Amino acid sequence: MTDLRSLSMDALAEALGLLGEPKYRASQLFSWIHEKRASSFEEMTNLPKSLRAKLAERFSLYVPVLVRKQVSKDGTRKYLWEMEDGALVETVRMRYSYGDTACISSQVGCKMGCAFCASGMSGFERNLTVSELLEEVYSMERGGRECEDEEASGALGLHNIETLSHIVVMGMGEPLENYENLVSFIRILGDGKGRDFSLRNITVSTCGLVPEIYRLSEEGLPITLALSLHAPTDAKRQELMPVAKRYSLRETLQAVEAYYLKTGRRCTLEYALIKDVNDSAEDARELSGLVKSIQGSPHVNLIPVNPVAESGFLSGDARSFQLKLEKNGINVTIRKELGRDIDSACGQLRRRMISE
Ligand code: SAH
Repeated sequence: MTDLRSLSMDALAEALGLLGEPKYRASQLFSWIHEKRASSFEEMTNLPKSLRAKLAERFSLYVPVLVRKQVSKDGTRKYLWEMEDGALVETVRMRYSYGDTACISSQVGCKMGCAFCASGMSGFERNLTVSELLEEVYSMERGGRECEDEEASGALGLHNIETLSHIVVMGMGEPLENYENLVSFIRILGDGKGRDFSLRNITVSTCGLVPEIYRLSEEGLPITLALSLHAPTDAKRQELMPVAKRYSLRETLQAVEAYYLKTGRRCTLEYALIKDVNDSAEDARELSGLVKSIQGSPHVNLIPVNPVAESGFLSGDARSFQLKLEKNGINVTIRKELGRDIDSACGQLRRRMISE
């Protein structure tokens, strides 16, 4: 069965047209699904009962089951969701002064195999669908409240929505490997007749799939691109990230530059700082040279590497590395670490409940 949440406004109008329904019904339905974050057909009270029954027979509207919710000392919340086929996906909600940010996953598991990241360590299962990507956002907005409230408000058909202002696709998986679904998800999320999410507040992080970076730059989407760089030379990068054997640093950074030139959006370079691996003075010098070699003054975001049991990596001294980069005129920040105590920091998301 087609999941109605995966359909764009046009596709929804077409599907309803085939059922002999007028166009305005599609707008109503789209608004229920995306603007009101409806979780069932019963809630859609301005649609005739007969139409709701017809829809329920032919289409699905899956809502992930909340398996576990953990709250960190710093207020970060981590959710474990179960999809229709039993796949488990984690999302994280972080509170910042400018609003709440959702960190969402793009795949169940990951194929990329980066040495420092837990997400790939239990293999790859599948891509997430458009509906599942949307539900990562809507379920958090709906169920951001405590579960008890949810029941009461859900009965009225009006969820107690706790709006998210920013989305980073930096959870489990490589988003550009799930390219088509990712782009459809972003377009539906930004549709003014539905969720109307500001696309400028979405960041997509990639380990560096070069052809897809070029393709994304042509989509006309004002989203921010983040590249997981993590090393200043090809040799070092290849040790940490298998993808570096496919694309050289030069090719990868050229793609990032092209993204900037095409979209006008300033890119971010992520750099997980690992003690004695990529944190020397020489590394800082080489990294500065790389950043300056491309147009668009990308911004470097240092992430003190988070502990992942299997890797044994220790975090480098981010403050001193930052100073070295700043001396070279590089724009650099240190990522504020949230939710480490509940394993919800970068690279700590998994598809299994290993703690149980
Ligand atoms: N596959 C995408 C998005 C997921 S990871 C990508 O590679 O960009 C989000 C960010 O967290 C990436 O920059 C990733 O390299 C980084 N990361 C992974 N494991 C980490 C760890 N243990 N500590 C700090 N950052 C990590």
